[in-house]
Amino acid sequence: MRTTTRAVVIGGGIAGCSALYHLTQEGWTDVMLLERDELTSGTTWHSAAQVTNFGGIQVMVGLKTHSIKLYEELANDPDYPINYHHGDGGLRLASEDWHLDGYRHFQSMARGMGIEFELLDAQESARRHPLITTEGLKGALWDPMDGDIDPAQLCQALARRARKAGAEVHRHTPVTGLTQTGDGWIVHTDKGDIHAEHVVNAGGYRCNEIGAMMGVHLPVVSMEHQYFLTEPIREIEELDYRVPLLRCPTDDFYSRQEKNGLLVGFYEQDCRTWGLGGIDPNFTNALCPDDPERVMPVLENVFERMPCLTETGIHTIVNGPITYTPDGVPLVGAIGGRRNAWAITGLRAGLGEGGGHGWLLAQMMVHGEAVYDTWALDPRRFGSWADEDYTTRKVIEDYQNEFRFHRPHEHRPAGRDKRTTPLTPVLAEAGAEFGTVNGWERAMVYAPEGTPTHRWPEWHEAVGAEIDAVHTRVGIAEVNGFNRIEIAGEGVMAWLDTLLCGRVPKKVGKVGLGYFLTEQGNVLGEATMALLDERTVWWGGAAAGEVHDFDWLTAHLPADGSITLTPKVATHTILLIAGPKARAVLGEAAPGTDWAGFKWLTCTTARIGSAEGVAMSVSFSGEDAFELHIPVGQAEAAYRALMAAGEAHGIVHFGGYAVESMRIEMGYRHWKADLITEFDPFESTLGRFVKLDKPAFPGREALLAKQGQPMRRRFVTLLMDDATLPAHGGDSVMAGDVVVGTVTSADYGHRTGENLAMAFVDPAHAEEGARLSLDLLGTRQACAVVPAKRYG
Ligand SMILES: Cc1cc2nc3c(=O)[nH]c(=O)nc-3n(C[C@H](O)[C@H](O)[C@H](O)COP(=O)(O)OP(=O)(O)OC[C@H]3O[C@@H](n4cnc5c(N)ncnc54)[C@H](O)[C@@H]3O)c2cc1C
Repeated sequence: MRTTTRAVVIGGGIAGCSALYHLTQEGWTDVMLLERDELTSGTTWHSAAQVTNFGGIQVMVGLKTHSIKLYEELANDPDYPINYHHGDGGLRLASEDWHLDGYRHFQSMARGMGIEFELLDAQESARRHPLITTEGLKGALWDPMDGDIDPAQLCQALARRARKAGAEVHRHTPVTGLTQTGDGWIVHTDKGDIHAEHVVNAGGYRCNEIGAMMGVHLPVVSMEHQYFLTEPIREIEELDYRVPLLRCPTDDFYSRQEKNGLLVGFYEQDCRTWGLGGIDPNFTNALCPDDPERVMPVLENVFERMPCLTETGIHTIVNGPITYTPDGVPLVGAIGGRRNAWAITGLRAGLGEGGGHGWLLAQMMVHGEAVYDTWALDPRRFGSWADEDYTTRKVIEDYQNEFRFHRPHEHRPAGRDKRTTPLTPVLAEAGAEFGTVNGWERAMVYAPEGTPTHRWPEWHEAVGAEIDAVHTRVGIAEVNGFNRIEIAGEGVMAWLDTLLCGRVPKKVGKVGLGYFLTEQGNVLGEATMALLDERTVWWGGAAAGEVHDFDWLTAHLPADGSITLTPKVATHTILLIAGPKARAVLGEAAPGTDWAGFKWLTCTTARIGSAEGVAMSVSFSGEDAFELHIPVGQAEAAYRALMAAGEAHGIVHFGGYAVESMRIEMGYRHWKADLITEFDPFESTLGRFVKLDKPAFPGREALLAKQGQPMRRRFVTLLMDDATLPAHGGDSVMAGDVVVGTVTSADYGHRTGENLAMAFVDPAHAEEGARLSLDLLGTRQACAVVPAKRYG
């Protein structure tokens, strides 16, 4: 066994085997995998092992396509062929109109990744799967690539290829401890220590045992999950093809063919967490006790959809632990707060996705970033607030809704009390409906939420009324959770100047917007910098970037300790005052500040009522607006002072949906929707924020090397000819029948009366005036490229 290596992968299920294999493919061959027992002895061995291509976002579709291509290649490898039923096809049933709308959106989104799903009517669905009835069926989404694979053979094949490329695989080698050493790790095992530059937690349901060894908690909880294997079914025996996979969002089951019978799996409402109080060290190659009673209500639904099963015996029950995260998407990427520590955990569909997750993780580790923006998978999308209690509540909710995909603006009820401010109940009293942003309860609209939909939401007009009041009078909103970090120390601006790709504010009292890049010159993040005094800057960024930005800044801190970082997100909330009467309201509520002379993009300390905070003149809305950063304990006092002063000016509350509509009209970007690591700042039309003549910043060399090369895509604003349908992130942009781009975000501009979308498109179609269309819910909506700034 080597005692030094580049990377140790801990765990030999599909996650670990795929990560190991892909590391060798990306160029790191001095790598090891340590498995406490036998390969696949965790969850992987007993998986139903269905492999599907469906995903709710493009990155999922892309990584699953990678899995499918890889598994095909492995299946056809004459040296070690493996069993893979590829191309049985699969049906996602629809019994409600919103299922069909969702499928049409997913169809458009997958089309942008080169994948064609088909939408079938009920009769055609039953023709393709002759065991199902059409009772109450509206149709189904057909995925031609669906199939299933032998999980043990798959892992052996990956490990075998990795070994051939130079990797070591050690079974019966439990990792017992981890010690961070500067940038690297000592991996302790009962066979001795290994010095590794990187460690990868691929520990499946034991990922938090490994997490504890490095002092982190991962938001992963296991559920017991059951499937039944049936006796042979005559109807299947008589077919000359394999029946397709089935998934049902109403009846909470899936099935695939197994020999001449079916494998049927259940997502029961009366579900069980597993292993929360600790896991028996001897639980290996093991299952949980059979519990058929628990899934009986689901089984009744299955009988109705597939009546032949009422006469079919069950010969095996499999009940095993399956890992989930709070949002159902695995944790693949860097672990926050630790150097060179990575996760590939929380996989609930690890056989279908595992090939792709290992591929993306290896790219992140070896190249610093992957072919896709991987934020949706990034472990740092959760902070320490996503504790075991939160994770458990969300995981149960997710398990109970396994195939009921989220619709736009849908915020489900579990785990909604984790991050609030003193104003949360006050705004609720004022009629706010809340959504969650990085765990925070944020007021989204002051009207009933209605039923989430891919069409115009019920609160559409209410948002228009909020915007009209802001635009003509004045509005107040709480923007809690906005990520703020106080950066302090001698030479702080000079230091930030080496990190951002453009100008940074130089004069005390100035506020500036800047971007930071990956080493490959792609857009990594955006920050508002407010220079409070010579040695203190407040860094502001999207709420979701809380751990991400802190990690990135920490990784770049000068070694001499001259600069310190202090998170402010939990200590200060933001009250936003916007509209033509904003200065008048502030003049009364905060008379100590010269609001009339308060210049755009400046900041100062200010007393609002009895609260002492920091005021900044910045605006996402395009209206005359001020952000008031107030200590949380004084938020209510400041709010009451502002409301009292605002009454005479007709002050209204406005929420996050109104802000979203106004920011689209202004052409402002949203982090990880419009600002992604797949494109550089020129492709993102942010060239004015890049100063290539600066001596150094991350990504500069890569940008210089790329000069003169054609753009991959270009960021544009699209104006639809009418407002028949709203667009959503992921929808395809078409030129004739050819996909030429993807929508990143979209909204209706209430001030301009325009139905707008932002998108990355093929540069050949990016000129102003270019006529294109959007593939929305199975229709084509004509649109044109227009200037980004629509208002003001
Ligand atoms: C009943 C059931 C049906 C399923 N059906 C499907 C399906 O149809 N399609 C699909 O895609 N997915 C399915 N899944 C999910 C899928 O099986 C899992 O997502 C996948 O197997 C998880 O793989 P993993 O590598 O993350 O975890 P595991 O397979 O559990 O591997 C983790 C490994 O880490 C090792 N380990 C842990 N701690 C240490 C340590 N300290 N030192 C060394 N090694 C350690 C363990 O021994 C284990 O081998 C199903 C799951 C269940 C339970």
